[in-house]
Amino acid sequence: MSGIQPDSIAFDIDGVVADTMSLFLEIARDRFRITGISKEDITTYMLAECLPIPETVIDAIVEELLDMSHWAPLKPIQGSVAVLSRMAEAGAGLTFVTARPDGRLIGEWLRAHIPVAPERIKVFATGSFSAKTEVLLSAGKSWFVEDRLETCFALNEAGIRPIVFRQPWNRSPHPFLEVGSWEELSECVKRP
Ligand SMILES: [Mg+2]
Repeated sequence: MSGIQPDSIAFDIDGVVADTMSLFLEIARDRFRITGISKEDITTYMLAECLPIPETVIDAIVEELLDMSHWAPLKPIQGSVAVLSRMAEAGAGLTFVTARPDGRLIGEWLRAHIPVAPERIKVFATGSFSAKTEVLLSAGKSWFVEDRLETCFALNEAGIRPIVFRQPWNRSPHPFLEVGSWEELSECVKRP
């Protein structure tokens, strides 16, 4: 598999480009003294189901994540910046679709981390997982890199081909293309 056209692909942000779950655990530790949890313990996107953290605390951590107000930085997932920069240098615009309700802060974060002209980076914030389909269809994208399996199934039904970015929380069986790293993903994308 190495034939995906760079301009036909778009990317989720949290759990694909941004190592959001690590920051989640960092906030849990620093602000709420919750220790002893690793990323491998996050076996589903329904955090209250897989973590021994009260739902109110989970909500507070997520709020801090979305505000991007925590002192510790959100870090890019290994390899993401290099591969995205390479794709942009090869002429592709970079399109990101997030279920975050507001794309401004995470858009600034992307533009601060990916060394390409800011206007080459497009961020669509849908506010819901289900709205991603429509945004991708109208942006003319046929491939989407995503870490939430439920979203992958929904996209697939709408004719968008999901690429599952392997994470501990998406280990249920699925029929889709899957990658475990950005290097592996870059091998799927056609080079100029
Ligand atoms: Mg995600």
